[in-house]
Amino acid sequence: MNHPAPERPADVVARLRATFRTGRTKPVEWRTGQLRRLRALLTENGSDLEAALHADLGKSAAEAQRTEIGFTVREIDHTLDHLADWLRPEPAPVPAHLGADATAWTQYDPLGVVLVIAPWNYPAQLLLAPVVGALAAGNAVVAKPSELAPATSAALARLLPRYLDTDAVAVVEGGVPETTALLAERFDHIFYTGNGTVGRIVMRAAAEHLTPVTLELGGKSPAFVDRDADLDTVAARLVAGKFLNAGQTCVAPDYVLTDPETAAALEPALVRAVEAQYGADPARSTEYARIVNERHFDRLTGLLDSGRVVVGGGSDRSRKYLAPTVLADVAPDAPVMREEIFGPILPIVTVPGLDEAIDFVNDRDKPLALYVFSESDGTRERFAAETSSGGLGHGLPLAHLTVSDLPFGGVGESGMGNYHGRYSIETFSHRKAVLKKPLG
Ligand code: NAD
Repeated sequence: MNHPAPERPADVVARLRATFRTGRTKPVEWRTGQLRRLRALLTENGSDLEAALHADLGKSAAEAQRTEIGFTVREIDHTLDHLADWLRPEPAPVPAHLGADATAWTQYDPLGVVLVIAPWNYPAQLLLAPVVGALAAGNAVVAKPSELAPATSAALARLLPRYLDTDAVAVVEGGVPETTALLAERFDHIFYTGNGTVGRIVMRAAAEHLTPVTLELGGKSPAFVDRDADLDTVAARLVAGKFLNAGQTCVAPDYVLTDPETAAALEPALVRAVEAQYGADPARSTEYARIVNERHFDRLTGLLDSGRVVVGGGSDRSRKYLAPTVLADVAPDAPVMREEIFGPILPIVTVPGLDEAIDFVNDRDKPLALYVFSESDGTRERFAAETSSGGLGHGLPLAHLTVSDLPFGGVGESGMGNYHGRYSIETFSHRKAVLKKPLG
């Protein structure tokens, strides 16, 4: 049987633009209707999506629900609860020289046709959460899932057209050639999640059309552990945050920064925490994910001799399994410290104290997240005041991005712009300034 040729990118964009021009995507009823349909997609096809996420990354059903499907449902529910409120025009005071009868306000206008490009590590959440914002703001959307998570990409390409308005939402699957072809088109916003190298390609392509971009990038997110911290609690939370999705999380603690005495005490605590979380043999844990592909597996195993193995170190290429691994005595310039790890390896780097820890962070690219484990208000305040990062987590990694009322995004090398909740409305709208002066 011959499959019909896929629609050309230019035709997809033209078709969606024609829909946008009719005004169909603007009424709040259309937007909430699409969000409810997307919610139905997620709740009615949960097991298909769980299976796809398991095929791509070995995610357990519970993890798939918590970090992808349920996460997106919560984002939808939060948006449905507050959308009318967020969209309300905001009055602005008018200066006296315009007269007492003049009024002014801002209103949110949808941008038009937006492009969402997603990565492979949370391939459902990171495609759909931006789509939620784009639809809530009244746009038409082209969604480009990651080719490196092929089962999830195929599932979303099959399901989205069955649930959403196909004249306003299109899925384009593919890798570099398909994305390059899409990027040649004029969009009204491009929302890209992935690495900084491709982020630069996206921004260059966007510049041709003066298209604004949101770049959700990554980098090395440090975790500072203070000498006063309860190390069993710290270890349990570091392990839960680092080894979720086998470390393939943009906001995972990339490395631990602490003083030598605390490092020595933290090592056994981390060994206990890994065993408590994944058992004596994590290879047998159904809750532990796999590395996305052989290329990343080989890259990661190549980093294992950057330090002394405290726990883990085992691997099985045929299963793309890499044990939750902690490395100690890691030099600041060791290979594992030269790139974002994006896998289940946690190096411990030591510095003499707080001043040097802050310098260590500030000597490097601005991270997407910074975590501080300390009982001291002074220490917490110093990190807040003296460092710059996309987000700052005191005492708990990853969790800040589940707070729907916080913006999620990076700064500097970790990205530009942000989203989630009302911040998605800001991202996917133009805030139009309006002045009204009666003629009479
Ligand atoms: P990836 O390889 O899936 O690439 C992301 C997207 O870019 C894909 O859709 C891919 O098709 C497209 N792409 C790849 N090469 C391209 C090219 N030459 N031209 C145009 N498009 C291209 O994912 P990745 O980049 O490996 O993702 C991992 C990175 O993403 C890490 O750095 C991680 O920290 C970061 N990340 C950031 C966030 C965040 O929210 N800030 C979330 C997840 C991942």
